[in-house]
Amino acid sequence: MNEDFLKSNAYVDVYELSRTKDTISGRVLLSDMPRLQDLILQSNKALQFTICGIVGKEGWPGATVTLSGDVPLVCNRCNQPMSFEMNREVVFRFAKSESEANQIPIEEDDDIEIVVGSTKMNLLEWLEEEALLSLPLVPMHLEQCIEPLHIRLGEDEENEKKNPFAQLKEMKNLRKAD
Ligand SMILES: [Zn+2]
Repeated sequence: MNEDFLKSNAYVDVYELSRTKDTISGRVLLSDMPRLQDLILQSNKALQFTICGIVGKEGWPGATVTLSGDVPLVCNRCNQPMSFEMNREVVFRFAKSESEANQIPIEEDDDIEIVVGSTKMNLLEWLEEEALLSLPLVPMHLEQCIEPLHIRLGEDEENEKKNPFAQLKEMKNLRKAD
């Protein structure tokens, strides 16, 4: 695959991918994933992806998918933007049908996602689904949050009356923090 971003009409035969143990890799724009758009900040960034066809232990068709990149979110604690580093790696097992998928026993110790495969699987939708599952339930800065701006300025109101330069100093400090 070339350096172009993944198109919404890119399909793969997952059974063929597994059989040939092929690899598909490339980049997908965050702005090309409509359902993800609702949960993240606007961005022109892209995620890197790699999809490798594999054959599972008992001969089942599968693939490993890696998805990585920075996703801009809003911190639920301070309401400021934050960058979430996505780094997902999943093993998929393709079932032939919904009923076959339901019959596959789920073993707790192996982390395999069972999906109904397709000879015409839409790559963008598949990766978008994975990206959605990778997002934190409650996004929050890992370390300390940035104090919300209005609180900081509000606390300085008293000082500002005594010292007209206090706020100016505060603004300078804010810029430095940027
Ligand atoms: Zn925060």
